Amino acid sequence: MNNKFESLKLNKDILKALYNLGYNSPSKVQSEVIPRLLRYENIIVKSKTGSGKTASFAIPICETVEVDNNNLQALIVVPTRELALQVKEEISNIGRLKKIRCSAIFGKQPMKDQIKELKQRVHIVVATPGRIIDHISRGTINLESIRYFIIDEADKMLKKGFVEDMEFIFNSIPKNSIKGLFSATIDKDIKNICLEYMKDAEMVEVKNENLLNNKQISEKTVKVEDKKKYDTLKNIIYSQAPVSVMIFCNTKETVTKLYKNLKEDRFLVTELHGDMSQDKRNFTIKDFKNGKFNILVSTDVAGRGIHIDDISLVINFNVPRDKENYIHRIGRTGRKKSFGKSITMVNQKDEKYMEEIEHYIGYKIEDLDDIKKEDIA
Ligand code: ADP
Ligand code: MG
Repeated sequence: MNNKFESLKLNKDILKALYNLGYNSPSKVQSEVIPRLLRYENIIVKSKTGSGKTASFAIPICETVEVDNNNLQALIVVPTRELALQVKEEISNIGRLKKIRCSAIFGKQPMKDQIKELKQRVHIVVATPGRIIDHISRGTINLESIRYFIIDEADKMLKKGFVEDMEFIFNSIPKNSIKGLFSATIDKDIKNICLEYMKDAEMVEVKNENLLNNKQISEKTVKVEDKKKYDTLKNIIYSQAPVSVMIFCNTKETVTKLYKNLKEDRFLVTELHGDMSQDKRNFTIKDFKNGKFNILVSTDVAGRGIHIDDISLVINFNVPRDKENYIHRIGRTGRKKSFGKSITMVNQKDEKYMEEIEHYIGYKIEDLDDIKKEDIA
């Protein structure tokens, strides 16, 4: 077995699992992060969407879990339920041969089932903040043996609204546990907040990641009045003929309205937003992943972390109000070695938000040129 992960001196069950997953060599962020976490260093990691951040913490955690020890040894906190399931899946795949048990704990699922699950042998938990706090408050989760504490999409988790929750969790885990904070978007302010929690943390910033390099996403904008938006959208879809497309809207109401319109126009379309039941959300993602639908209209609930192969086009039906979300949304395409496109629809009101985004990412996004515009308009 020629596995360049071998140079990281990993357990043979982990190496074999990586080989089975088709991970032949570590990505850049993985080469940087795995040894550091194995050396028990606190880190803040900034690396592009699609660069393999999940495995960069999942591998060292799985490597160091003591399977004969029934205590919970690692806690990973993520912002959405979908991401919790996806991260759990990745950890389960990596830890399967070593017989590592991982649970996803999130809201809108019966508390009593989770309590039962947590009483059994679970080595790693991936959780959303609200529900984990619930378990901590009720004393139904034991965090005493936590060795690794990871926050994925850390910038989002440390923003207003979430930061109090994170503080609560930070105060509930053992002081000497190793902490890792991960995101594609960590600015100075967020970095300073991170450092407040973990004074000795080292910042690991990976540039030009090889799994995904944003040059693989061709980004464009289209200036369009509101009343022409829907027709322009349809023309974009027809003219680009994408294998699969994700359309992001800023509100649930817009998602549902757009979904209904596209369905009436006989597109193979499905929708995703926070008002749907968890079961329905899981089925939607599954159906979209296996190609039953080729258009997914979604709020930012699917904007972060979710990985679906072959998304060829991301359309922003609205310009996101949070500039970071632009990066996360378009990061759904052009993942790994594939090539992707993103088109952002900009009405007059959105222009100032688009400028903010361009300032943030540090480059100007071209408008679809006039000829092309006629093509699609
Ligand atoms: P990020 O969290 O940085 O956005 P992910 O962890 O979701 O990225 O990984 C993106 C994709 O790359 C996933 O489909 C994952 O299975 C795949 N991947 C991760 N590490 C490797 C590797 N070493 N070799 C090949 N594919 C990988
Ligand atoms: Mg991720």
